[in-house]
Amino acid sequence: MTFDLSPRPLNPAPATPRMIWPNGAKSALFVGFDVDAETAWIGNNPSNVDRMVTTSHGGYDARVGIAKILELMAELGLKGTFFTPGWTALAHPAQCEAMVAAGHEIGHHGYLHKLPDRTKLDEAFEEIDRGFEALQSALGVRPVGYRAPSGENFPELLAYLKKTGIRYSSSFRDDILPYRHAGADGAVGPVEIPVNFAFDDWNFGMSSRTSSRPLFGRDAVLQLWIDEFEATHAWGGVTTLVLHPQVSGRPMRWHILRDFLRHVIDKGDVWIATGAEITDHYEALEAASAR
Ligand SMILES: [Zn+2]
Repeated sequence: MTFDLSPRPLNPAPATPRMIWPNGAKSALFVGFDVDAETAWIGNNPSNVDRMVTTSHGGYDARVGIAKILELMAELGLKGTFFTPGWTALAHPAQCEAMVAAGHEIGHHGYLHKLPDRTKLDEAFEEIDRGFEALQSALGVRPVGYRAPSGENFPELLAYLKKTGIRYSSSFRDDILPYRHAGADGAVGPVEIPVNFAFDDWNFGMSSRTSSRPLFGRDAVLQLWIDEFEATHAWGGVTTLVLHPQVSGRPMRWHILRDFLRHVIDKGDVWIATGAEITDHYEALEAASAR
């Protein structure tokens, strides 16, 4: 494999069009959860499957985290998107069915949470196919949104996602507004709802034996989230959350998330929507501007 290092924009997507949010809102909030469960620990490190304590970080999702997150969303009257690896849906069907029953959107998050690798195209596509099959058989859903496991993507994968019916991706870090991916040969790719790395709770709230790090508490995280949200709101962008029940479903962190979401709700002029709703809106604007 040779690498094309010629100077060019590595993401060829055209500039983001002007965004008008629904209902006079000044900005949008996309509450996205990654329901990795144990796949976060075994997808890229299969030998961890025999390490019960290591994988028990992910086991927290099924035993506590998912239920507490669903409780919080119900209390606040919010709908979110739960990006769920196929393996998680098959291993923990009851907990995942509860996400569907509560009216949340299910997104595609690979099958075993393997990092997409451009040097192994067949394996990358198989992760997509198996993810769809598992979500269909366990939950009866066919997702339209995709968040890349371990946050990686490449042109062939974007094209494959579009071909399989994925309407939007939520992984890239290069904008504060949704935009449309440009596929190979000028083909139209999925919509991107970019994420903000400041809202990935794993950075602040996960530490393990194999990756031991200090944790950040309420004063650091809540203020960071509020400041980043307020600035994004002032710029009229979308605040995209990358939350994990095995992190934000922990007792103290659950309260940080609750206080943050209440702060956003209290603004009164934020459109809080699922990924599918944001994509519907984006595509409606595209259609209107094409007329
Ligand atoms: Zn994940």
